[in-house]
Amino acid sequence: MKLKIKDIFNKELPADPVTLNTRRQVSEACFSFVTPKKTTKPELIHVSDDMLENLGLTKADGESDVFLKAFTGNVVLPGTKPYAMCYGGHQFGNWAGQLGDGRAINLCEVEHNGKRWTLQLKGAGETPYSRTADGLAVLRSSIREYLCSEAMHHLGVPTTRALSLALSGDQVLRDVMYDGNAAYEKGAIVCRVSPSFLRFGNYQILAARQDIETLKILVDFTIKHHFSHLGIPSKDTYIRFFKEVTERTLDMIIHWQRVGFVHGVMNTDNMSILGLTIDYGPYGWLEGYDFGWTPNTTDRQHKRYRYENQPNIGLWNLFQLANAIYPLIEDAPALEAILNQYKTDFDTRSLSMMCSKLGLQIEREDDKSLIQNLEDLLHVSETDMTIFFRNLSHFKTEKASEGLQVVNEAFYKPDDITGNNKERWIQWFKSYAARLEQEAFSDSQRRESMNKVNPKYVLRNYMAQLAIADAEKGDYKLIDELFQLLKQPYKEQPEYQKWFAKRPEWARHKVGCSMLSCSS
Ligand code: AMP
Ligand code: MG
Repeated sequence: MKLKIKDIFNKELPADPVTLNTRRQVSEACFSFVTPKKTTKPELIHVSDDMLENLGLTKADGESDVFLKAFTGNVVLPGTKPYAMCYGGHQFGNWAGQLGDGRAINLCEVEHNGKRWTLQLKGAGETPYSRTADGLAVLRSSIREYLCSEAMHHLGVPTTRALSLALSGDQVLRDVMYDGNAAYEKGAIVCRVSPSFLRFGNYQILAARQDIETLKILVDFTIKHHFSHLGIPSKDTYIRFFKEVTERTLDMIIHWQRVGFVHGVMNTDNMSILGLTIDYGPYGWLEGYDFGWTPNTTDRQHKRYRYENQPNIGLWNLFQLANAIYPLIEDAPALEAILNQYKTDFDTRSLSMMCSKLGLQIEREDDKSLIQNLEDLLHVSETDMTIFFRNLSHFKTEKASEGLQVVNEAFYKPDDITGNNKERWIQWFKSYAARLEQEAFSDSQRRESMNKVNPKYVLRNYMAQLAIADAEKGDYKLIDELFQLLKQPYKEQPEYQKWFAKRPEWARHKVGCSMLSCSS
């Protein structure tokens, strides 16, 4: 296995001088060296061929013994020095102090085809940041992270990636619903990959400790290696840096809204400085188009991270990042202007995103009411988001009266669309048809453009759960089937039509499908 290893993070940034793997507060450092834990019986379940290629590895490499051992933490690759990062964060709106990579260990950085990738194991044992937990991950949450991060990439959503999914061979104790019913589950390890795993929290912890010297070192490092097009570090560069992070964060969240992804734990320690979706925990996919939905049971009461609130939380988190890097900039109006711009950009970008979902090429001011009326209707009767927008592409302008039939499959209870509700739908399709008449596109051109933004297949909550149930019994075929299916989420793939279906009733209130906890 030939990886072009080129470590910079653990070479250029200040390291924690203590090398004992004991839990502690780590100051004046960005990371601590740590060795992954050896596991009892490592076994690979799946490897991403796409990621192998990105790293310059072959299929045979992926099947080699050294691959298995390296990406389950059982062998440290020569010339590498694994480490865990120090970061803090706001959890559910409150400052939580030091958090850090408690169950993630960065192995090394690799350069291939001009791209830099950090390889990180999730679930490879405790680190100085593990606090009261064990540093391990269970199979169910590892499958969810592995499948979803690759699926998001193929949907065109900025995200961290995944190279491999493996069993550790060890048992891990978890209390899934925090109700005192702890049980042993199979331990697993995902090798995640990203140009960088830096989070807002990495900067926040240094600012909170008033360690401005290390903060400057870290920001300069980030700009040098990940935002080099912004120029050499200076106050102006820092402001441009913050602007770009803001824009990338908004871009990522607009994509989430487009595909119906709800992250579930948008704490500042789960916000990537590169604007990538990171830390797949109790995330979920909108099934019914319910703006108030959150998959995370921990958030059930306040629903802080519900679908409709994600853009606001993005802004709130950016505000925290602005506060963290303020000591290097000391220009509040400049930072405020960028944060205000986020709000304006959000309005414009979300309008154009919704227009694209409706197949409208030119955005017009009055499209807002067309969209609002549609969203109101989608809330009146439970409607599957993915099926609705996908099937809407079959709408024909000259057959506006058939609109309801075109999207019928998306309704959970189509027979309930009667009376006033039905009348409103008919009116909506009339306005939609009238609006489409003003577009230059033909029906078939519109369908083509809609099918590029409205996926046919997403990792519905129950689909991941089915794959998990099989995997718990040692059958990994469904993991592979979903992995292959989700490589082409915008393609028809008639052989997989069965996955283009509403959530089955058994999954409505099932743990893992509609309710997820952070206990992974
Ligand atoms: P999360 O909610 O998954 O983003 O995790 C929040 C913090 O808790 C991070 O610092 C994690 O590293 C840490 N953490 C979560 N689960 C574990 C675990 N099983 N062992 C050690 N640390 C953990
Ligand atoms: Mg996290």
